[in-house]
Amino acid sequence: MKTLERFTTADAAEVYGVPSWAGGYFRIAESGLLEATPTQNGVSVPLVAILEELKKRDEALPVIIRFPQILESRVRGLNAAFNAAIAEYNYPGKYQGVFPIKVNQRRVVVETIAKAGRDLAHGIEAGSKAELALCLAQDLHPDALLCCNGFKDDGFVRLALWGRKLGKNVVITLEKFSELERVLRIAKELGVKPAVGVRFKLHAKGSGQWEDSGGDGAKFGLNATELLAVANRLKSLGLENSLVMLHCHVGSQLTDIRRIKVAVREAAQTYAELHALGVGIKYLNVGGGLAVDYDGSKTTFYASANYTLQEYAQDVVYSVLETCKGAELEPSAYPIIVSESGRAVTAHHAVLVLPVLDVTGPTRYPADLAKRDEDSHELIKDLEQILENINVKNYREMYNDAVDDKNQMHTLYDLGYLNLRDRARAEELFNRIMQRVLKVIEEADPKYVPEEFEDLPPLLADKYICNFSLFQSLPDHWAIDTLFPIVPLSRLEERPTKLGTIVDITCDSDGKIDKFIDLRDVKKAMPLHEFDPERPYYLGVFLVGAYQDVLGSDHNLFGKVNEVHVTALEDGGYDLDLFVRGQKARRLIEGMGYTSPQLFSSMRSQVDRSIAMKVIGTDEGESFLEHYDEEIVGYTYLE
Ligand SMILES: *Cc1c(COP(=O)(O)O)cnc(C)c1O
Repeated sequence: MKTLERFTTADAAEVYGVPSWAGGYFRIAESGLLEATPTQNGVSVPLVAILEELKKRDEALPVIIRFPQILESRVRGLNAAFNAAIAEYNYPGKYQGVFPIKVNQRRVVVETIAKAGRDLAHGIEAGSKAELALCLAQDLHPDALLCCNGFKDDGFVRLALWGRKLGKNVVITLEKFSELERVLRIAKELGVKPAVGVRFKLHAKGSGQWEDSGGDGAKFGLNATELLAVANRLKSLGLENSLVMLHCHVGSQLTDIRRIKVAVREAAQTYAELHALGVGIKYLNVGGGLAVDYDGSKTTFYASANYTLQEYAQDVVYSVLETCKGAELEPSAYPIIVSESGRAVTAHHAVLVLPVLDVTGPTRYPADLAKRDEDSHELIKDLEQILENINVKNYREMYNDAVDDKNQMHTLYDLGYLNLRDRARAEELFNRIMQRVLKVIEEADPKYVPEEFEDLPPLLADKYICNFSLFQSLPDHWAIDTLFPIVPLSRLEERPTKLGTIVDITCDSDGKIDKFIDLRDVKKAMPLHEFDPERPYYLGVFLVGAYQDVLGSDHNLFGKVNEVHVTALEDGGYDLDLFVRGQKARRLIEGMGYTSPQLFSSMRSQVDRSIAMKVIGTDEGESFLEHYDEEIVGYTYLE
C-alpha cells in the first residue's frame, strides 16, 4: 500500500471497486460516506443518513435497504437496451420482456416492476401455482405476457387458462411432452383456446455456474422429436395457431457472451423451422441468463460477465436477425423477442446493512502480557530475538525459524514443559512476527507478495463480528459462493489499515464471509478500518436483491430482518416510504410447532416451583417472566 501518500475517496473507490460493480447506483462521496443514486440523475442518499433516521425511530439493525427506483431504472434500462438494438439493426420485430418472479416474489419488487413496465408491456413469468396466483392478480398491460413455466398439475393449468379467459396474455410453457394433453383436455373443458409455448432443449450450453441448465441433460424441456410431435398434434386439431412461443433457457449468470450468441442462433433457427411447419409461432423467448458483474472484473469468471447489458441486447437482436435472414423469413414473420431477465433486474436494488459488533483476531490482545521473566522458557527469548531482528534480507529465514519455534512450542505445551503463560506469550510473539514479516514484504514492494507468503494476510486478518445471520441474509454466499461487493458505509476518506473477514452471530462455523471480490482473483480478507467500539461502523453488502433475497433460512432461529424502502426526491431529499418489521422470536418459535401460551405456562409453573422452594423470591420470579415475555416478542438479532 502507498502508505506515505494521503488516502482519498478516489483510493477508496479503487480499493472497494465501487465504480466497477455499482452500475451507477452507488458511489463514494467526498465526505467519505457511501451514497446511493437510485435515479442516476444526481440525487444522492447517504446510507448512514438512513440508518440515523432509523435509530431516531428506535428501529433495530440489521436492515435491508430497498430502492424501488433502482428496480424501475433496471426495467426501463433493459427495455431501452433492446429497443436501441432493434433500432440500430432495423430489426423488423419488437422486444417484450418478462420478469421471472422466482428471482424475487416480494410485493415491493413485483409491484414496482409491474408498474414501471406497464407501458412497455413488460410481463411476468410464474413457475408454480402460488406464483401464478400472485401474477394473475397483477394488472399488467393487455399485451404483456404471463408465462407459466415449471411442472404443472390440473389446478395449475386451470388457473392459467382462466387467466386466458379473462383476456390476459397467458402462455403455458410445456416443460415436458405429457403436459400438452393436460392443457388440451382442460382447455376443452373450459371452452378456451390455449396459447402454448414449448421449452426446447438446445444442444448449446451456457457458461458459468449454471452450465448444466442447458444441453441434452437439462432438467426441463422437449427434444426435437417431442417438439415436432407437439406441432403435429396441434395442427391435427386445427390448433396450429395455439403454438405461439418457443422458449429456451440455458442457465442463469451466463458469463460468456459467445455462448449466448451460439444458443440464441440455435433457438432462432428452431423458431424458423417451426414457422416453416405452418404453426402460428410469434414469440422467441431467449430465457434468462443476463449476468450481473458482481466483482466488476468484466471477465468470464463466475462472479462476472464479459459483456454489458447493451451488448447483450445487441448480440441477441443481431443473432436473431441474422438467423431469420438466413432462413429467408418474411420480415413480418420475425419473432417478437422475449427475454426473462431476473437477476440483472433485481440484484442492484437491495443493500444489506451489517452493524459491526466487535472484532477479534490474531492482532488484537486483551492486555499486554508481562515481559519475560527468569522462569520463561528459552523459546520465548528466541521468538523475541526473531521479532527484533527481522529485516528485508532475512525475513524468509526468520519466518521459517518462527514457524519451527511455534511447532516446538505446541509440542512442549502438550508434554507439560511449557506453562499457559508462556504459551500465551509465544502465540502473541508469533503473531507479531508474522505482522512484521508482512510489513517488511509490503514495504519492499506493495504490489507483490511472494507466493509462499500469499496466505499470510488472511491468516492475520481480524474477524469482524457482525449482527446478522449468513443463512438468513446471504444464503447464496453460503450455498453457492456468490461473491457480493462489501464496503464500509463511512470513513471512506480514511485509509483502511486492517484486513478482516466477517463472521455472523449464528453458532455455526459456516456463518462467515472469507471470500471477497477482487479484479484478478478471490480475496480471502478485505481491507477494513480499525474498529472503535465508541463509533458505529457499518458494512454494506451490495447486489443482494436477486434469488437469495427470498431464499433465507431460519437457522438458529434468526428470522427475517427489518426492511426499509427508500425513495430519492427530485429536490435532493429522500423519503423512507415503508418500514417492514423483521420477524419476532415468537413467530420463529411457533414455526417449530410450539405455541407461546404453552411455553409461557410451562415457564410460569417452573418459576412458581422455584419460588415455592425458595430458590428465588416472588419479585424475582415476576421480573424474570416479564423479561421472558419481552424477549419472546422481540427482534431475534442482537440489540
Ligand atoms: C430462473 C429462470 C430465469 C431467470 O434467469 P436470470 O438469469 O435470473 O435472468 C428465467 N427463465 C427461466 C425459465 C428460469 O428458470
